[in-house]
Amino acid sequence: MASKRQIIARGVPMGGGAQIPIQSMCSIPFSRFEDLKNQALALEKAGCDILRVSFPDEQSAEPFRALRNALSIPLVADIHYDWRLALLAMESGADKIRINPGNTDKTNLKKITDEAKARRIPIRVGVNAGSLEKDLLAKYGRPTAQALAESAQRNVELLEQFDFYDMAVSMKASHVPMMVEAYRIFAQNSPYPLHLGVTEAGTVRSGTVKSSIGIGALLLDGIGDTVRVSLTADPLEEVETAKILLRSLGLYDQGVEVISCPTCGRTTVNSIELANTVEREFRDIRAHVKVAVMGCVVNGSGEAKQADVGVTGANGEYVLFRGDKIIRHISPDKILPLLRAEVEDIAKEKTQKS
Ligand code: SF4
Repeated sequence: MASKRQIIARGVPMGGGAQIPIQSMCSIPFSRFEDLKNQALALEKAGCDILRVSFPDEQSAEPFRALRNALSIPLVADIHYDWRLALLAMESGADKIRINPGNTDKTNLKKITDEAKARRIPIRVGVNAGSLEKDLLAKYGRPTAQALAESAQRNVELLEQFDFYDMAVSMKASHVPMMVEAYRIFAQNSPYPLHLGVTEAGTVRSGTVKSSIGIGALLLDGIGDTVRVSLTADPLEEVETAKILLRSLGLYDQGVEVISCPTCGRTTVNSIELANTVEREFRDIRAHVKVAVMGCVVNGSGEAKQADVGVTGANGEYVLFRGDKIIRHISPDKILPLLRAEVEDIAKEKTQKS
């Protein structure tokens, strides 16, 4: 049930069966421009496909433009209440804007849609369980999935009245079942690309669990066209988590995928540390390479053989496998660079083939 319509921001398609882009948001204000730029470039390098920044005031215009020009990926301006800022963001090079149309009167909303049409800039309509319209809260008694879906539909129609259709829609809530249900209701009758996310999801651990359940449940149903894993953490974590989430569903085929065992009494090496180091330090490799890090050869060799490359512990050393072949035994202090060389070699082969 992927959306029927497709929108495009700076060449990145969303919806209509396109590959699902990963989104994130910068956490540094424009007043610290160099730090912000470095963060944005690091996110782009890590695989973020679409990046968003807050556009809180008129002073944001100049640094927004500079940031946009420093990036190759689309830059989205997050606007809350002020229609003038939406216009200014578009004039400043925004590739997409995120607004809540219900916060703007009809005349000024038309100015926004006219400008977006003229510049071919898509709009994300973002509704949130925390800021539902008063009449919907009165009708449903509290924030509910139905109320969220109804609010989204109402906001969509506010743009459609000006013949504006180049939009994506989000209905975020921190309560996972409510968020899932809201998207399911809305997706039944809407052709627009859906931006999935659990809002205020929490720290790395709880946010990852909540996002994986909420976003994962919807994607398994075929609902959703772009994702943001929202974490109280460095946004690089959001991108990494989104990649793993999508890869787990077979919707992303880039990056090093670590397959590792929980370890047990048979383990004679510190494979927990090695698995974590590989996951952290091999992030720069873009090709999809499966790396098995297993505690022992007894049960581990089967997994290691199925991965592109694998290591298993054996008598205090590691055995390095590539497919069915044992390459060599290696002491733990030498394993990392040798494993990296193998992974780079496989990545090169895969890149050449593709
Ligand atoms: S692979 Fe070996 S060390 Fe790891 S959990 Fe299985 S038996 Fe234990």
